[in-house]
Amino acid sequence: METIRIEGVRKIFGGSVTALDGIDLEIGAGELFFLLGGSGCGKTTLLRCIAGLETPTEGKIFFGETDVTSLAPHKREAAMVFQSYALWPHLTVGQNIAFGLEERKVPKKEIKERVEEALAMVKLEGYGDRSIDQMSGGQQQRVSLARALVVKPRCLLLDEPLSNLDAQLRVEMRREIRRIVKENDLTGIYVTHDQEEALAMADRMAVLSGGKISQVGTPEEVYRAPTSPYVAGFIGETNLIEGEVMEMHEDFCFVRVNGSAIVGRVTNPEWKARTGDMAVVSVRPEVWRLHKEGGENEISGKIVERSYLGQRIEYFIDTGIGRQQVVEMNPHIIHDIGVEVTIHAEHRDVVVFPK
Ligand code: ATP
Repeated sequence: METIRIEGVRKIFGGSVTALDGIDLEIGAGELFFLLGGSGCGKTTLLRCIAGLETPTEGKIFFGETDVTSLAPHKREAAMVFQSYALWPHLTVGQNIAFGLEERKVPKKEIKERVEEALAMVKLEGYGDRSIDQMSGGQQQRVSLARALVVKPRCLLLDEPLSNLDAQLRVEMRREIRRIVKENDLTGIYVTHDQEEALAMADRMAVLSGGKISQVGTPEEVYRAPTSPYVAGFIGETNLIEGEVMEMHEDFCFVRVNGSAIVGRVTNPEWKARTGDMAVVSVRPEVWRLHKEGGENEISGKIVERSYLGQRIEYFIDTGIGRQQVVEMNPHIIHDIGVEVTIHAEHRDVVVFPK
């Protein structure tokens, strides 16, 4: 277990591409921490800097109290798992796992024991003598996890480890990876662009954009209280509605949108809005309620699209504040296309940002 501290890290490639633009982050010992963001936001570069595969142009990285910024990867007690597995096809499962230990000149008897131990951790007991091409995709990913674990790292760094697996296996492996990190007291850093994976697995996450951190928090904090339209749109689905500030209170704000007033929470503490400023309102599809009795932020509209999805139903409703995506869970009544309805949303579930 190791705390990882990143201080003012910048990474510029070839003198002109700024991949990381001043990253400050502290990842707690034993935490499973996610780096999340769209393509090119810098998440892999940050992970590679932590692993020692890239050197930051500026800034420092600490493992515990040790400055590891210029320490070689194999001296960092961090092991990396890649999307491509990076296994040797001509070696057996056991030989692949033993490889790092042989390089470190660990005695043969100990290697044998530690390989068995690592196979047990990933639930592949007895598979040591199989060749890699006899293993399924999911099993190969377990082998690459065992190979990382066998060197007894204190940090496990995972770069999109599940993206080559099919949907069902991905969900199964999510639980496995979380179990492995927690049972072995590892600090885990996990890169993905899959927001559902991050919501399901993370203790905390950082959402990156353009080489900077947009927001850090638990899955619930980031989902329920995003601090920017970018994060609201990236983590989960949302309706983003532009308007003009009418009234600003301590932590909530009224916004005028095409003649209607919408009230929501202000999650960005730095925003000191004034009347007339431009704002963006975020309402998640499941936050809109489709009931007869009214409530806060009541808007009327007409159903223009409908998808029945079993345990939920998704509508698109044309309203005076634009087309709204609305999701009803366990619907009792299914409304038809063309029907006039009223939707409303509680202000504590609605978020208002500066534009
Ligand atoms: P993806 O999800 O597509 O893998 P990412 O968030 O992991 O994206 P990075 O791979 O960290 O993004 O890349 C960040 C930026 O740095 C991109 O603009 C990328 O083109 C650039 N970059 C990354 N590695 C190099 C390199 N070795 N040389 C030059 N530019 C690089």
